[in-house]
This record gives sequence, structure tokens and C-alpha cells, in this order.
Amino acid sequence: TLTDRSASTTTPAAPPGSSTGSSTRSPGAERGSDDTASRIWHSWTPVRQRTRPAIVRGAGYHVWDDAGRRYLDATSSALNAVCGYGESRIEAAARTQAAQLHHFELSRFTHRPAAALAERLTGLLGGPLTRTVLVNSGSEAVEAAVRIAIDLWPLRGEPRSRVVTLERGYHGSTALCQSLSGLPHLANRYRDPIPVTRVPLPREGAALRTADGLERAFELIEQAVAEPHEDGPPAAVVLEPLLNVGGGIVLPPGLLARLRRLCDRTGALLILDEVFTGLGRTGAWFASQHEDVRPDLMVLSKGLNGGYAPIGAAVAAGHLAEDFAAEPVVGGLRYGHTTSGHAIACAAALATLDVIEEDGLVARSARHGADLLDALTAGATGPLVTDVRGRGLVVTVEMADADLAARLVQAATARRLLLRQQGRAVMAVPPLTIDETGVREIAESVAGALDDVRTGGR
Ligand code: PLP
Repeated sequence: TLTDRSASTTTPAAPPGSSTGSSTRSPGAERGSDDTASRIWHSWTPVRQRTRPAIVRGAGYHVWDDAGRRYLDATSSALNAVCGYGESRIEAAARTQAAQLHHFELSRFTHRPAAALAERLTGLLGGPLTRTVLVNSGSEAVEAAVRIAIDLWPLRGEPRSRVVTLERGYHGSTALCQSLSGLPHLANRYRDPIPVTRVPLPREGAALRTADGLERAFELIEQAVAEPHEDGPPAAVVLEPLLNVGGGIVLPPGLLARLRRLCDRTGALLILDEVFTGLGRTGAWFASQHEDVRPDLMVLSKGLNGGYAPIGAAVAAGHLAEDFAAEPVVGGLRYGHTTSGHAIACAAALATLDVIEEDGLVARSARHGADLLDALTAGATGPLVTDVRGRGLVVTVEMADADLAARLVQAATARRLLLRQQGRAVMAVPPLTIDETGVREIAESVAGALDDVRTGGR
């Protein structure tokens, strides 16, 4: 969504506070955006795409590019800048930690910021979720949760290894995580490192959110769980409470609670991937709280420290960890990375949780999300728009096709509003620090951009 084909290739003007005016910049940086792009192999975009602005600075819910243009960032970078940019309390916590101990590995030793963060998450999540695996990304956290679920069953003397997921779910970028998804643009060569049953949702859009949509969605998942399979009953059901890459799909209310009961009945572990919905994004601390559901494993990442440093967490019910005492090789979990639970990232996470609490960002997300949904429902109308939906600060305008969605994002970018495109879905997911003015600006720019798309204007 940062692609702006109209981006200037002239010498960039230095925006206030940016580093482009510094005499210590590297020779590559002096040559401007085009060259910066040519040395990085950017993911998920055409390899020959050269022109893209470099983002050089952020403050509040705005970012600036290297040509000095200011954008309202309704992408929160990739959904993770929950506290916006330049948040001095998080910055200070990270700096203090870096000065004291930047990191120490978390297998033979522990360190205080990791221990404090795990304790804090246990308090926030409540109930049995008491053991936290700390990692560096959402993908790694999903991988940790799924591997716990799969490695657990042989230890209990029951070799379950199948996982049930939603076909349009997205759980990250590693081979295992991509294999969980049936989204067509993911790498299918990595399809089946473990057996996965991917369930198609019956319908999308408003129909999915009806009682009938709930019934059908539940039936399909129930059938997938019950289906006779050479790998036995599922080890786990893995899903996002609100689908991100699948297109900002709001699941039918009531589905999670019914899935919790289904898992209790069948023994499958419920893994909720709250990588982007966790920590306030949907107007509750966790999206699963809307239905008062507690999973067996909760996966968190993006909002955990607002993107100030890489972090991810899989929080498990304590009794699952106890089962790993019987693991024959290390007597515990055989998963972890050198920088897992990085001390600076954990310190930033503790400060982020303070900011979310002190500034009431969960309630703000609910309030401003409802206002934004109302404004877009009223303003994003006409034959090009097929649905407007949302929960908290995840508001999606669904277009008639993906090309129109791309044009809407481009038109919005020209109006200095960054939106996120997933297929036909155009998502507004601003930092939770957004205010009335920001909500109004997003709604006005989306309405204007829709007009531009309709009329070919601007
Ligand atoms: N799970 C969900 C629901 C996500 O939205 C994402 C990222 O978009 C991931 C997992 C993967 O997280 P990461 O990109 O940090 O590996």
C-alpha cells in the first residue's frame, strides 16, 4: 500500500526531524527513493518495482516520506503501530533497557523484562493462560503455538497431528504458517508439512454475519473436525477472530463461543491467532473477549509493542507446558531463536501496555472505530462498493473487484491517506491513538477517493 507510482524521483526535501538532511547519511541514501528500493529485495511486491517512497519519519498517526509528503497512516504500518509514532514513553523504556542490558538468551538464563512481560500477559488474559513463549514475529508465535499443539499429543500417548483452519485465514509467512492457509497467493509448494483441513467460509459480506451464516460456518468447521482421517482427530483448530489478509472478514457473532464448546467436546486445542486483533484493535483487549472465549493458546504480536521492536508471543494454558516435562530429548519445548524475547522488545512491550492502559486506547478504539464505521457506511456508497463492515478500528470497504480496490488505495494515497488493500477489501486500520479529527479526515478522503475512482478524476 506504500506504492505510489506518482512518487517524485527528484532530490527529496528533508522533512522536519528526518535524517535525510544529516551529513552522515550513506551514499545510497543520497540517491533517493529509487535507489533505496533497488538494493532491498522487497517482499510481496513485483521485483522490478523501483519507485516507492521511503518513509523517513512518523509522529502521532502521521508519517512523512522522503519528498516531505505527510500521510495519515490508516495502515498502522502493517497493523502494528497501535500507539502511533514517536511515542516518547515507549522510546524511553527501550532506550533505558538498551543501556542496561540489550539482551540475553532465554534458555539457560532469563531476564527481567521477559519475566515481567509474561507475568503481565497472564494478568491481562486471565484464566489458565499462564505460560508464555516469547519470539520475534507473528509467524514465529503461530509456529510455536501450532508446534506445541502437535508435539503435545504424542506425549499424551495420542498421536494427533492434523490441524483445522479457515481456508481464507492468514497465519504468517514461514513454510508451516503458509501451509495453514488456502489463500491462493501464498506459496503452495509448502502446502503440507503437517496435515491441514482448510474450511471454506460459506459466504462473505453481510450474509456471513447473519444467523444463517453462523449456522453454516459452524457446520462446516464441525464437519472438518469430525471427518474421519488417517491422522485421527485434529490436534487443534487455528483461526483469526477477524480475518486480516482474507479481506477484513468479520466472523459471525457467536461462532467463537460455539467453537470453544466444540473443542471442549472433541479435545482439539483452540488456538486463536490474535496477532493483529489482540491488544485493543477491535475495541476489546482481545477480540475473543467479545464472546468471553478463552483459547488454549493465544497468539499475539503486532500490537504487543506497537512495532517499536520485533516481538511475538504464544501464551499457553499452564497445564500444556506441564505435559512437556515428558518430552524425551530436552524435557521441554524444542523451539526458540537467539533473539527470542529480546530484552529491548520486552521493555518496549511493557511500556506499550502501560500506554494502552493509561491513555484508555481500548475504549478509544471501540468509540472511534464505531464512528469510523458509521461515517464510511454513510459515505462509501454506490455500485462500486459491495460491503462496509468493521469491528473496533478494523473498518473495511469491500469493492466490486480487486482492481477497483487497488484504484481506491491509489486515489487515497494521492490524497495523502494510506489504506491497506487485501484483494477486494480496502481496510482502514489507523493507530488506536486516532482522534475525531483523524476519523473525519479518513472518512472524507475515502469518500473523495471513491469519487476519483468513479470519475477517473484527480
Ligand atoms: N497472523 C495474523 C493474523 C497476521 O495478520 C499476521 C501478519 O499479518 C501474521 C500472523 C504474521 O505475522 P508476522 O508478519 O509478524 O510474521
